[in-house]
Amino acid sequence: MSLLIVGSVALDSIESHAGRVKDVVGGSAVYASYAASLFTRPAIVGVVGDDFPQTEVTSLKRKGIDTQGLERVPGGKTFRWGGRYAEDMIQRETLFTELNVFETFQPTLSPSYRSIRDVFLANIDPDLQLDVLRQVRNPRLVVCDTMNLWIDTKRPSLLKLLKRTDPVRKIDALLLNDEEARMLGDAASLAAAARSIARLGVSRRTAPARRGDARLHRTEPLRIIIKKGEHGCMMFGPEGVFAAPALPLAKAKDPTGAGDTFAGGMLGWLAGRALTPANWRRAILAGTAMASFCVEDFGVKRLRGLEREDFRKRVDELRAMMAVGKM
Ligand code: AMP
Repeated sequence: MSLLIVGSVALDSIESHAGRVKDVVGGSAVYASYAASLFTRPAIVGVVGDDFPQTEVTSLKRKGIDTQGLERVPGGKTFRWGGRYAEDMIQRETLFTELNVFETFQPTLSPSYRSIRDVFLANIDPDLQLDVLRQVRNPRLVVCDTMNLWIDTKRPSLLKLLKRTDPVRKIDALLLNDEEARMLGDAASLAAAARSIARLGVSRRTAPARRGDARLHRTEPLRIIIKKGEHGCMMFGPEGVFAAPALPLAKAKDPTGAGDTFAGGMLGWLAGRALTPANWRRAILAGTAMASFCVEDFGVKRLRGLEREDFRKRVDELRAMMAVGKM
């Protein structure tokens, strides 16, 4: 296993102009795991109830996803979320959020999970993200996602997570959408919001970087990755800004989980690769390509059947779109 993913595991009910589905498997950790499984062996940490179909666990396993960290609570009910998309497929109304088994979930990582070096704290209560981060031994890379709900209701926990007081267990990159970035960074401009969020990640107790320090990348400023839906994504890192467009798709059916799929693709691609600025940029393209598949069908349907060759073709389309040649 080379990528630990903690997040929600859900049964979603979704409505869009393309139709409606009820109680389909979803959740941030599930989308991210399916996407990452194209590149690496993810281990999923989450909780479900009796009502979560065993066939869904089998599907995850079939993709090489380790499900030992997926706890089943006898008599419990799986987390449920419902959403409805407007005609533009951008505006989304949350119809309901039922935390159910997540309300009392206390993840305990097995010894083998604790030593996984790359960690994705997918969208879930920041207290649970902190719980998991405290248990990992010596991570190489930690990326965290969040959402407006937690920025609104759990800001102190989120800030605790971002504040880099532990030089080993700390967040390297934060993923948010544009609206969330403006909310957390308290600024209308994305550049200003990114700058102020990066400052939230500065702790006076963080040791200064020394030349030749093997853990030099651990002392880099917090990298901020802002997802802008059909307008692509921007990454604010120590080396500067990188922007990637999204693939223009004619037949989007369901954008649910696109952000989690982006993250899973990005981290899956990065797993085992050097964390250079060039690789971060390539990882953004990998995430963008994966997210473009996600929206083509409801739930994880499209992700389940993906092959490496599908990814290769799509990433080439994206690179062709971005190529400008000499000027
Ligand atoms: P996204 O479209 O990237 O916002 O992700 C949608 C997924 O997030 C759905 O599969 C939901 O089950 C899950 N989700 C919705 N609300 C929450 C929440 N409060 N915490 C964790 N996951 C959530």
